Amino acid sequence: MKKYKGIFFDWDGTAVISRKAPAEEAAAAMKGLLAKGVKLVIVSGTTYENIAGGKLEEYFTKEELEHLYLGLGRGAYNYRFEDGKPVVFADRIPGREGILQIHDAAYGIHRELLASYGLETDVVFCRPNYCKIDLMAGSDRGEQLFMQESEIESLKAILDAHGIKGGLGELLEIAGKVGRRYGIEMKATCDAKYLEVGISDKSDNTNIIIGELEKHFQIKGEECCFWGDEFVGLEEGIYGSDSFMITEKTKKGDFFDVSSVNGKRPENVQQIGGGVERFLHFIKEQEEQ
Ligand SMILES: [Mg+2]
Repeated sequence: MKKYKGIFFDWDGTAVISRKAPAEEAAAAMKGLLAKGVKLVIVSGTTYENIAGGKLEEYFTKEELEHLYLGLGRGAYNYRFEDGKPVVFADRIPGREGILQIHDAAYGIHRELLASYGLETDVVFCRPNYCKIDLMAGSDRGEQLFMQESEIESLKAILDAHGIKGGLGELLEIAGKVGRRYGIEMKATCDAKYLEVGISDKSDNTNIIIGELEKHFQIKGEECCFWGDEFVGLEEGIYGSDSFMITEKTKKGDFFDVSSVNGKRPENVQQIGGGVERFLHFIKEQEEQ
C-alpha cells in the first residue's frame, strides 16, 4: 500500500472494538508511526474522556504527541498536544444563546415529529453544540455502538409506519426545515437510532485538521488516507458518519471501510472489511515502510 503522510481514522469500531475496550493495542500500533513523524488524526463523535479513558496522552512521549491530532464531538473540538497535554486549538462551541437556539430547534423537531406524525422521540440536550434525538427510544443497542444492519431497516419501518414515506431523506428534510424556523442551518445526521442535529459535523473536524497539516507541514488531502467503519449508505445518497470525512479538501485522498456490512458506499470508498484488526495491521504495515 502507498505510504501516507497523514492517517485520519475513526475510533469506535475502527481502532478499538468499542469505546470501553482497552486502548493498548491501538496505542502500541500508533506509537511507531508517531515516532516517525507520520500525522495521526482521530476523528470521532465522542469526547476526549471517552477515548482511552481520557488518558490517551499517557501512552506516548511528548515528541510522539506532536504528531497526533483529534477531531472530536462531531465537529465541536479539535485537539493537538502541547508539552504532552491535550489542547483544544479550534472549536465550534456557541455561547449560551447559541446553545439554547440549538435546544429550541431540537425540541421543535421532537414537537413536529409528534404533532404531525405521531412519532415519539427522546431528546438528549447535554452535548456541546448539538442534540441527540432518540428515534427508537424503546430499543436499546447496548455496548456495541457501531451501526447494525437491522437497525436501519427497523428505523425505516418506524418512519414508514408514521407516514414519513421518504425515509431518512425526508426526516433530514424535516430537521432542516424546523432548524431554519429557529434561524439555524442545521447539520443533521442520522445513524439509525439517533438523529443528531447541531451546527457542525465530522467534516468540520476533518477540514480544520487537514488545514493545520497543510499550513504547518504542507501535507495535502491526496497524501492522506481516511479509515472508518460507518461509510455505508443508510439509504440512497445518505451515507454513514465516517463519510463526512470526504470533503472538498480531502476528496483526493484514499478512503477505506473496515466494515463488512453490505450496502452502497460513497464512490471513492474502498470496502476492505476486517474490522479493527485490519486497521491496526495497516498501521503496523505503514510503520515498516
Ligand atoms: Mg465507528
